[in-house]
Amino acid sequence: MIDLKGKTALVTGASRGIGAATAEKLAAYGASVVLAARSTGDIETVAARIRQAGGSAEALACDVSRYEDVAAAVQVAIDRFGRLDILVNNAGLIEPIARLADSDPEHWARVADVNYKGVYFGLRAAIPAMLATGGGTIVTISSGAATSALEGWSHYCSSKAAALSLTRCADKEYREQGIRVVGLSPGTVATDMQVAIKASGINPVSQLDPSVHIPPDWAAEAVAFLCTAEGDDYLGTDFSLKTEEGRKRVGLA
Ligand code: NAP
Repeated sequence: MIDLKGKTALVTGASRGIGAATAEKLAAYGASVVLAARSTGDIETVAARIRQAGGSAEALACDVSRYEDVAAAVQVAIDRFGRLDILVNNAGLIEPIARLADSDPEHWARVADVNYKGVYFGLRAAIPAMLATGGGTIVTISSGAATSALEGWSHYCSSKAAALSLTRCADKEYREQGIRVVGLSPGTVATDMQVAIKASGINPVSQLDPSVHIPPDWAAEAVAFLCTAEGDDYLGTDFSLKTEEGRKRVGLA
């Protein structure tokens, strides 16, 4: 049983999908949780569910493409719960899916702002707070797209590749000071994002039968696993939940 009692976690993109499941999972393991996303009604609903289950949760409007919002979310964790031990950089976009020549430059750049710059903003805001209390864990939700090329996904593949590079750089700079930085590549997960991918009809991922997707709860369990010393083998890399070995490590075989 994973024990996160006394720890505070900030989860971005906690309004639905993997982020909501992760916030509920970390709370179930004892962490106090700050939920950050743009849909304030939805994060408040998830936070209320956590509190009803006996946990501690705070919901906060946050657009991760704005540094001041991310820094404010870290400050809320400190003000409300005294410290920040875990950051889950989960907020992410894939729409609009389009081949390069059809892509809208403004929309393409918006995905980079969230998936890439949002992860940098999380690292930049959380690392000093974690150093001040002796360390912490930062899990960035990555994707197989970080290391592959898929038609229609140039914004997504390149921004996830950039996020993986940030995981590697942050691990190199801060591992010795007690900051554990790791990525999670969950495989395909049954969320709204996969509904949008299916609707696009572009590339083989859109052709997958929805029955192959794992539930968000599995990705959440993997995040919790990576927050423990058991996850140390994967620091500075993307841990894959797609492999049999990865699922076994998390106890999901
Ligand atoms: P989802 O259901 O579409 O949820 C995305 C979350 O990101 C929502 O909570 C959304 O909240 C939040 N978000 C989007 N833009 C934001 C912004 N600017 N600021 C703050 N929050 C923002 O997608 P999901 O499948 O759970 O994806 C979560 C993460 O997993 C993403 O990083 C995604 O790339 C990654 N991932 C997903 C899959 C999959 O198969 N589903 C596979 C690999 C990796 P608001 O709209 O309320 O802001």
